[in-house]
Amino acid sequence: MITGKTKNLGVIGWPIAHSFSPNMHNAAIAEAGLDYTYMAMPVKPEDLKEAVAGVRALGFKGINVTIPHKQAIMEFLDEIHDDARIIGAVNTVVNEDGRLIGYNTDIDGFINALKATGFDCKDKKVVMLGAGGAARAVIWGFIKEGISRLTIAVRNVPKVLPLAESFSSYLDIKVINWIDKEYSDALRECELLVNTTPLGMYPKIEAMPPVDFDALNPSAFVYDIIYTPAETMLLRKARENGLRTLNGEGMLAGQGAVAFKHWTGVEPDINVMAEALRKALKS
Ligand code: NAP
Repeated sequence: MITGKTKNLGVIGWPIAHSFSPNMHNAAIAEAGLDYTYMAMPVKPEDLKEAVAGVRALGFKGINVTIPHKQAIMEFLDEIHDDARIIGAVNTVVNEDGRLIGYNTDIDGFINALKATGFDCKDKKVVMLGAGGAARAVIWGFIKEGISRLTIAVRNVPKVLPLAESFSSYLDIKVINWIDKEYSDALRECELLVNTTPLGMYPKIEAMPPVDFDALNPSAFVYDIIYTPAETMLLRKARENGLRTLNGEGMLAGQGAVAFKHWTGVEPDINVMAEALRKALKS
């Protein structure tokens, strides 16, 4: 029951009505028996500064931050964690006695889900498809885990070169067009193939990024960060070709679990979060 002692958490974004975060977090709160509540709060871009002041003034314990505020919120916070600074985006804010600290938990969400399958990124050759908003967290996660090689395959190489350049002091990233022959060469050597494009996402579930399964290393692991549908066309084809696969559900639940721990100090039950997410996605 919500009482005068209940601590507030939430997510801000614009729009926000589609968010599954309240389902996930309230399920984890109930499971852990904590006196917290988590709500979705629509915040227009022009109101962001006031909304952040509101988080402080109202004594929220923390918030998640989603599109379009992930970059813009940084200037209104008191401190930014190193990972979030390198990625250039904050998805979690923790209120520590009035000091607002920005984190990015997408990195851990992405990597922890992969580790949970038993896959170790160390020294692996990786091909990443697409390089938009989610890609920076994915790349930084790979760099922290010590992959040996990253090839980014996209439809528009010049657009992605600045992103690759921004990580060049950590890893030499090759950017190629996925219609070129070097893409087949990269697939042949690839040990982990990650899709970060929205190709195959609901409702266009028949779409998929171009992947030649005759060229792809037969022991490659295929990770699609899309979570609707649970099995994209890419993952279906990968499974039918005998490859190990992972969808984006664990990443989504995982980034939430890391944020939850930051706010409450309690490790949530990630299975409860994933189950709440699945239920919400079906409804
Ligand atoms: P984004 O910023 O729009 O970036 C998408 C990338 O895919 C860009 O490189 C874009 O290339 C490329 N792309 C888009 N449409 C394409 C098409 N028709 N053909 C070829 N390339 C195309 O998207 P995002 O925010 O990174 O999200 C990407 C996907 O990841 C979405 O499905 C999202 O739901 C999912 N995601 C999952 C999680 C999770 O927790 N599991 C977290 C974040 C995102 P151009 O620049 O050339 O358009």
